[in-house]
Amino acid sequence: MIFLDDFNKADMEKALAAIGEKPFRGRQIYKWMYGKNVFEFEKMTDLSICLREKLNHNYRFRKFVLLDKKESLIDNSVKLLFGLDDSNRIESVILEDDGRFTGCVSTQVGCRMGCSFCNTSKIGLIRNLTPGEIVRQVLMMNSILAGRKRSLSNIVFMGMGEPLDNLENLKIAIDIILDSDGLNFSHRKVTVSTCGLADELKYLYNEMDTPVNLAVSLNFTNDSLRKTFMPINSKYNLKYLLETLRNLPVQKRKRITIEYVLLKGINDSINDAKQLAKLLKELPVKINLIPYNASDGMYSSPEQHVINMFQKSLQDAGYSAFIRKSLGKDIMGACGQLYADYKNKY
Ligand code: SAH
Repeated sequence: MIFLDDFNKADMEKALAAIGEKPFRGRQIYKWMYGKNVFEFEKMTDLSICLREKLNHNYRFRKFVLLDKKESLIDNSVKLLFGLDDSNRIESVILEDDGRFTGCVSTQVGCRMGCSFCNTSKIGLIRNLTPGEIVRQVLMMNSILAGRKRSLSNIVFMGMGEPLDNLENLKIAIDIILDSDGLNFSHRKVTVSTCGLADELKYLYNEMDTPVNLAVSLNFTNDSLRKTFMPINSKYNLKYLLETLRNLPVQKRKRITIEYVLLKGINDSINDAKQLAKLLKELPVKINLIPYNASDGMYSSPEQHVINMFQKSLQDAGYSAFIRKSLGKDIMGACGQLYADYKNKY
């Protein structure tokens, strides 16, 4: 079975040519999908009935259904649970900050990076999401927000999975999200977050004509500690990762976001802050401090005054450092909490 939502625009045109149609029909269908969120041939009313039948015969769209919606009572964030074709499930989150909405999007069912503080890693990797499954999370969030006459202003690939472990599909999804016939987002409004897949990052940045923003989950400042919490550090150590960041063709005004999850008693000392400042020297960065969000009893978040001191130390060293609000905690929708009730397939 061939699924049209696995394709980018150029491949959609080829798919239509392959059944003896003019390639522009591919673009027309693509606009229905990503411009109007229509994934049923029957509803594509500017196609002839005959063509719609032919399409039904040859092609399909993957199933993608909203199974559940949980709204935070504290901060207006909304966690969405989606069901996929093969009864796998994923979650995404709509986050609201100061009246602006950000969509936190998943790229994989589960994750194989094994970061010990992250709930998603407990699932392991089940499979990569297809481009359509990645983009449809955004479409679905926008259709929910449309009910409130609002829409997403930003997209962050910080949901379930490691985006750069699903590179080809991520690339297609970003293409569709930025394309004016697709979702038409500005590259300034889209952020890919990685736990540090350095070579994949190089590849992505060489491939992209208009690079999107980049966030890197550094989290620890020496290899031996980072390796124990983030196994990827055994493949790409800090020196290699930071060297890669230094050599990226980052546009002048584009700063890399460095994410740093604060774990009480583990990486939250002033010494860690100083070490972090040293490591990041001369990189165009801003630092987001993320107090640990609990999913089990393994770790805890530092006291507020410790977090503040950590931030101040970075600011004193000349960095922009922010403490990220933990939105959606009461619905298990904050950073590192997504799990999609995984044991219960639907
Ligand atoms: N795999 C990607 C994107 C998903 S995680 C990445 O690692 O960047 C998004 C962010 O949440 C990362 O910065 C990660 O370090 C952070 N995170 C993971 N578990 C967390 C937790 N329990 N509390 C707070 N932040 C967490």
